[in-house]
Amino acid sequence: MIPPRLVCSRGLWRSQSGGREQVEDCIFCKIAHGQVESQIVYQDEHLVAFDDINPQAPMHVLIIPRVHISSLLELGDGDEELVGRAHRLAARIARERGYDRRGFRVVANCGQDAGQSVPHLHFHVIGGRALQWPPG
Ligand code: AMP
Repeated sequence: MIPPRLVCSRGLWRSQSGGREQVEDCIFCKIAHGQVESQIVYQDEHLVAFDDINPQAPMHVLIIPRVHISSLLELGDGDEELVGRAHRLAARIARERGYDRRGFRVVANCGQDAGQSVPHLHFHVIGGRALQWPPG
């Protein structure tokens, strides 16, 4: 059940004030709030990074905002810093794991055709093997 104070806007449940509170039944909100276990790699007040449960490469980390933003399409004015932080964190994690020389990839799937399966913005940070291009 969606709490009554949340309203649906563009397919998203939001508070009437337009906030980005935790969304019930969002697995990544639960990870961000420590309600579901994950292999946390990094966390701060803005972002959480954790190992993907179904890794597609030796390094497969997901970086999410703590607040609920359902996809890239829901980014708004003022989110530039958050997105910049996420990318700097991706580079830091890759560097710490020694993938800065070999290379790595940062991907945000958006919507059905891209195969987005979790509607909470996340950046895949993938490395440790030669990645194909174009992607499948
Ligand atoms: P996407 O298909 O781009 O939406 O990516 C969602 C990713 O989340 C997939 O790579 C899943 O393996 C991963 N995933 C789903 N549930 C969990 C979870 N509980 N812990 C870690 N990763 C997850």
